[in-house]
Amino acid sequence: MTLFEKIANHEIPAKIVHEDDDLVAFHDINPQAPHHIIIIPRRPIASINEVEPNDAELIGKMVILAKELAQRLGVSDSGYRLVFNCGAQGGQTVEHVHLHLIGGRQLHWPPG
Ligand code: 5GP
Repeated sequence: MTLFEKIANHEIPAKIVHEDDDLVAFHDINPQAPHHIIIIPRRPIASINEVEPNDAELIGKMVILAKELAQRLGVSDSGYRLVFNCGAQGGQTVEHVHLHLIGGRQLHWPPG
């Protein structure tokens, strides 16, 4: 079982901000900005490389939830960033697909 499945199952504590049948969202343990939320599907797809066409609705739900959480956090107007890291050079460290929602400060481009 992946670390994030254990968080979704409440086997590892996390500050969960949203749960539904498909998705769980929680605070990142090592936040990179004042707001840093991780959004995961309950189903443990390893990475974006493993996403299939019939996952389109699920991935879309992740983006819609990110938008809603950004509104709840009050960063919709100031701006925020959504990131899927994929693979080693993409910076992915947990092999359970996840969307980072990062906001609350000026973010820079390109990322490091
Ligand atoms: P990645 O580097 O794979 O894109 O993102 C993984 C994220 O998960 C990192 O930002 C890291 O801080 C976060 N993370 C790793 N372990 C834990 C944990 O046990 N709890 C929480 N809440 N976040 C974690």
